[in-house]
Amino acid sequence: MPANKTKVLVVEDEASIRKFIAINLHRNDFVVLEAGDGETALEMARRYSPGVIVLDVMLPAMDGFEVCMQIRRMLPQVIIIMLTARGEDMDKIMGLELGADDYMVKPFNPLELVARIRANLRKMASCVPVKTNCISFQQLRLDLEGQRFYKDEEEIELTPTEFAMMKVFMSNPRKAFSRNEIMNCVWGQNYFGDLKTVDVNIRRIREKLEEDPSAPQWIETVWGVGYRLKGAAGHAQY
Ligand code: CA
Repeated sequence: MPANKTKVLVVEDEASIRKFIAINLHRNDFVVLEAGDGETALEMARRYSPGVIVLDVMLPAMDGFEVCMQIRRMLPQVIIIMLTARGEDMDKIMGLELGADDYMVKPFNPLELVARIRANLRKMASCVPVKTNCISFQQLRLDLEGQRFYKDEEEIELTPTEFAMMKVFMSNPRKAFSRNEIMNCVWGQNYFGDLKTVDVNIRRIREKLEEDPSAPQWIETVWGVGYRLKGAAGHAQY
């Protein structure tokens, strides 16, 4: 397996759809692994540590939600893109307990999937030029090299999307960002996703970061604008 190509694990029980996706990814220079069920997917994820997982929700036995949760626990930094049928609840797919990075509604154009994978891989590349390997803000610290995030020197595990968002906020503390700006910074200008993805990820970060996620002290909602990192109350301003 070439080391420099991104490994993508495609998890879909319908062989014709899985092959179709696999062929298109292969043509676009990805190394493709295939799994027809959740158990096999977990086994392959463990063995090959793919960079990206394309995961169908509807799978026999263990469904895509369960697979997503387990893979996220095993590989905190993998990018997970869920495939859904129309009408499946996007909030659930992106939900706190699952940790998916993105989703696509079937049927979709395979080139769109390739674009989404690339946008997710490019995450953090744009917008915020950073010269150091660490960004600190009050009790928060982002280790860019190790892709780790700490609060009071205790690690908080973030998904790649959550990490990229914290990078945006911590590079520009107290600046209010619109949802569009956040989306452009994190996924790049050519990404046309659902702005709700931003809200879902913010909610997820708050669950991990805030003492009381319903009364956030760190990431503040700026009405009519979007969000900003305001910092903990009582902390010295600079
Ligand atoms: Ca399926």
